[in-house]
Amino acid sequence: MPAFVRASLGLHVAAGAAALLPGGWPWALGAVVANHAALSAAGLWPRSALLGPNIRQLPAAAAALGEVAITIDDGPDPEVTPIVLDLLAEHGGQATFFCIADKARQHPALTRRIVAAGHSVQNHSLRHRHNFSLLGPRGFEREIGTAQDVLADVTGIRPHCFRAPAGLRNPLLDPVLHRLGLHLVSWSRRGYDTRQADPAAVQARLQQGLAGGSILLLHDGHAQRSAAGRAVLLEVLPPLLHHLRQQGLQPVTLADALPPRRTSTPSS
Ligand SMILES: [Zn+2]
Repeated sequence: MPAFVRASLGLHVAAGAAALLPGGWPWALGAVVANHAALSAAGLWPRSALLGPNIRQLPAAAAALGEVAITIDDGPDPEVTPIVLDLLAEHGGQATFFCIADKARQHPALTRRIVAAGHSVQNHSLRHRHNFSLLGPRGFEREIGTAQDVLADVTGIRPHCFRAPAGLRNPLLDPVLHRLGLHLVSWSRRGYDTRQADPAAVQARLQQGLAGGSILLLHDGHAQRSAAGRAVLLEVLPPLLHHLRQQGLQPVTLADALPPRRTSTPSS
């Protein structure tokens, strides 16, 4: 259990005792309210590690080799994803697709095409629910565990990485991921390409501070359209891949760069 979550539980026990003292309950209530605000804030901060391990960079060995990970969320999309695959093949580079399992189930041939091209398919939940971060253990189990089964069924490979919808979560998520053997993966740089329609601005954001070990976030589903009416990543990928090559950086998949999460060790 992460130290922050353990400390929060300790605080609740202490507040329970303090509430029994004369005049103690307003202080106890205040402490608990403040602690819940802090826990919620940590869950709204996608790159935070306060609620459990959260991978924002590739391991040091991969970073030293100049490896980076391009991650592409919210697909597969029958119109956009095939063009993404063509661009990756043309310009050279492997990517990781955090797929919504319901969409993978609707487009199984396309999902298998991603894997056949040497890319990786990972878990971005079953339905990408907007209230994902409010779920409890059973809801997480349903959204994540079912997505594991669907993606394994479609591709023949069981994912070992999970990304939360919109990056939002709560303290009950990590025990579920641990049991399913899933790493929580966020990102180093994101392009905000679900909102930003200017491909140059998205590319500039991704390239700021880009280095070996960076994990980049783009979208083939829910993508904003450029002035030309195309999903923004279709205009970002060619110059981005060119930039990576110029910098001596190699786009690899999370399947290649991240070892599996161990599930058999007791949690500490
Ligand atoms: Zn998403």
